Amino acid sequence: MAENFQTQNVLIEKQENLHELNDWKRYLGALGSMLKSRMFTQRPFFLAHAMTFGCNSRCKTCTYWKNIYRMKEDMKTEEVYQLLDEAYEAGMRGYYMFGGEPLIRPDIDKITDYAKNKGFITVMNTNGSLLEEKGKKLKNLDFAFVSLDYYNDYDDVIRGRPNTFGEVIRGVYELKKIGRTKVAFVTTISSMNWNAMRKMAELASEMGVGISFNSVEQSLDFGQTTSDTTPNFDLGLNPEQLKEFYSTLLDLKREGYPLLETEEALEDFVNSKPWTCHFPKMFLYVTPNKQVYNCDYTYAYDLRKGSLEQYLRSDGFRSYVASAETCNKCVRTCVRGYSYTYGLFPRQLWGLAGQARLLFDKPYESCSVAGSPQRKDNRLHGSKPVIWRH
Ligand code: SF4
Ligand code: SF4
Repeated sequence: MAENFQTQNVLIEKQENLHELNDWKRYLGALGSMLKSRMFTQRPFFLAHAMTFGCNSRCKTCTYWKNIYRMKEDMKTEEVYQLLDEAYEAGMRGYYMFGGEPLIRPDIDKITDYAKNKGFITVMNTNGSLLEEKGKKLKNLDFAFVSLDYYNDYDDVIRGRPNTFGEVIRGVYELKKIGRTKVAFVTTISSMNWNAMRKMAELASEMGVGISFNSVEQSLDFGQTTSDTTPNFDLGLNPEQLKEFYSTLLDLKREGYPLLETEEALEDFVNSKPWTCHFPKMFLYVTPNKQVYNCDYTYAYDLRKGSLEQYLRSDGFRSYVASAETCNKCVRTCVRGYSYTYGLFPRQLWGLAGQARLLFDKPYESCSVAGSPQRKDNRLHGSKPVIWRH
């Protein structure tokens, strides 16, 4: 009996080692594809795939869910596999899944498995509503960015459906139990949760996950520029609030909260420093019905009629790359951060090393709080987190 148990343990350990070896191979592959793009090809290495027109939330800051009637246009499983094959052939090594809500796809686990086995780093942006139910099947998901906009049930109001807060918290615990996926919250700040940044950072810290902040801006309404079609006019941050938003993030970062944004990118936002955007050389955005769109949601190419390789060789793609460099429009912290990484800025890379420690330092075994000095010794040991109330 004891011998059987020992043999079983040895087998499990061997399997774990094999997983780790394959993981490192994939991460090195992704790093190699970024460096190749940076040095030679200027081609995107991350396939950013909006997997479905459907969504089960009705967020007040979003209009995407109104596309639900178009779900019949979503690519079938085999078509997604083909897209992944094409992307791999074109040198891409990252697969970023979003939507709509990617977890409403019944084949989401199969697609994640396929992408990982192919050699992609797998990343998902999810509203977290179905994580508790489907998390177990996502053993091949490397990173989950889970949307959470408030630190209590008021999140339900922002997200336009009941129980979102509880669902997200339980879903994140489900992923942490499995222990393979690195998790971070993504919090979108608008006039509805303007006061919540610090408490959200505290919650992330307490739960041992990372956090990244977006903002809704009045000025940027990519592809949806009238007050009829976008909520941004009412709910977006005005320029003064936006400045305060960046300053608060910088304070939180310096205090040691687990923000994914780097100090350098935040400082430059605070100082309104111009920058060079490399987004098109990093991400290729493909819609649920296999169209390529630019970062500002303008149509670029039909992948049902031509190949990905043809698009990447086209004049349209080249001029998109060139115009992005001087664009300077985006106020999203992630895009500036990605561009600094692509530019191999030393301070940015050093900051990323700190984040890697945060996400890779086995936070799921100990649930230890990474970052926040005042909560350094606070360990959850699998218990429910303390949730703050108004
Ligand atoms: S979950 Fe995402 S896609 Fe769905 S309504 Fe909210 S922001 Fe929009
Ligand atoms: S800065 Fe301009 S080119 Fe770059 S992602 Fe933003 S809108 Fe696109």
